[in-house]
Amino acid sequence: MNQPNADLTPGAALKTRVCIAGGGPAGIMLGLLLSRAGIDVVVLEKHADFFRDFRGDTVHPSTLNLIDQLGLREAFDRIEQTLLPRLDAVVNGVRIHAIEFSSLPGPNRAIALMPQWDLLKLLADEAARSPHFDLRMNAEVVDVVRSDGRVTGVLARTADGLLQVDAELTVAADGRDSTVRKALKLPERTFGVPVDVTWFRLDRPAEPLPDTLGYLSSSGFVITIPRPDYLQCGLLIAKGSFASLQNDGLEAFRERIARAAPRLKDVAQGLREWDQIKLLSVQISRLDTWSVPGALCIGDAAHAMSPVFGVGINYAVQDAVATANLLTPVFRGDVSPASIDAATRAVQQRRERPTALMQRIQRSVHRALGKGAGVRLLHNPPTPVERTVLRVVIPIIRPIAARVVGYGFRPETISPAIMTDAREAPAPN
Ligand SMILES: Cc1cc2nc3c(=O)[nH]c(=O)nc-3n(C[C@H](O)[C@H](O)[C@H](O)COP(=O)(O)OP(=O)(O)OC[C@H]3O[C@@H](n4cnc5c(N)ncnc54)[C@H](O)[C@@H]3O)c2cc1C
Repeated sequence: MNQPNADLTPGAALKTRVCIAGGGPAGIMLGLLLSRAGIDVVVLEKHADFFRDFRGDTVHPSTLNLIDQLGLREAFDRIEQTLLPRLDAVVNGVRIHAIEFSSLPGPNRAIALMPQWDLLKLLADEAARSPHFDLRMNAEVVDVVRSDGRVTGVLARTADGLLQVDAELTVAADGRDSTVRKALKLPERTFGVPVDVTWFRLDRPAEPLPDTLGYLSSSGFVITIPRPDYLQCGLLIAKGSFASLQNDGLEAFRERIARAAPRLKDVAQGLREWDQIKLLSVQISRLDTWSVPGALCIGDAAHAMSPVFGVGINYAVQDAVATANLLTPVFRGDVSPASIDAATRAVQQRRERPTALMQRIQRSVHRALGKGAGVRLLHNPPTPVERTVLRVVIPIIRPIAARVVGYGFRPETISPAIMTDAREAPAPN
């Protein structure tokens, strides 16, 4: 990775303006935007590559709008993807056309599904074109460095030993188990979620299946994210029950999938080892305070999102855009510790409410699903009252749901100051 802006001394110390812990959607997008604005940035990512277990494949219309704004549409379209203009759910065997993205006003009227590592690689490759961007893989942040009550950088474990990065601002974008957040001792509010999710891939059924987000019945809830060659599936289970599921055996697990989604009965036979099934401990949490002098938390490090509506990546990206928009004028101007801290507080002011609103909706969905496991949500065939609700209420809700899911609350656009050519921006330090 390029590192021309970094002043690497023999003691393995590096000086930059902004140090970002974590090369996920929040960290890479922030690195790209700041470096485009001509601000030196070092991103430290603990893994050697972006290729990891399933962490979400969804690129929502709000992020697609940003891809357009960045001029990356052509490169984005070269990556294999599936476009979902609508989301259906099957409830007790009744198909409900719940969300219609084609009702959105913008040019992007679908969710794109692509592996997260492809999206990250696209953004990182674009960022690497800037001399202001320095991405270090295999660099695990282990602690923050402080001076006079202010965070002044981080310590990272690398293949060459401990690396100290001194920075005017440290950004924690290291995910929901954030090391930086723990080092900052920022208290986290955790909201109880009664479910966990088991993730696995299934072959597509021989008989073509309409794109369906999930199958919900009194027997369970299976999420089905269509990919070109397979279905990325999630089966909701009661929190903490994975070990007992494993004790019951794979056959019982396959039957459970088939009861919840009968059309997946045959392909569920493809699950032959527990290694094919990954457990996601679902978590919803949020920090009361996102920043301290010299440091800011964004993305999952500030607010772990549930996978409901698959909005975690997009919220992380929106945080990154808000952070870059608010920090760029500060770093380009008469920068002082006080002005940096005022900007980081402004990031929380801007992003906290949209995040809290979405988390509230996610928690209501979890509560409804928790109750729904034992009751019939919708009769099959629907009762006359249910038919009226389906005919009258769903069409009203459909465009609203498309906006809430597709854009989230308070979608961000990249400020023109960032989009100005970096050659017009101040020279690197
Ligand atoms: C199984 C699963 C399925 C999901 N499905 C979806 C979905 O379909 N759609 C969706 O939008 N969201 C989904 N999410 C949520 C989504 O993945 C997150 O909300 C989103 O990735 C948050 O982005 P982030 O950049 O804040 O954090 P992360 O994506 O967690 O990125 C953090 C990065 O920091 C790195 N890191 C961690 N610790 C350190 C350290 N100490 N030093 C250096 N680097 C470090 C990690 O390796 C990682 O690359 C899912 C999550 C999981 C776990």
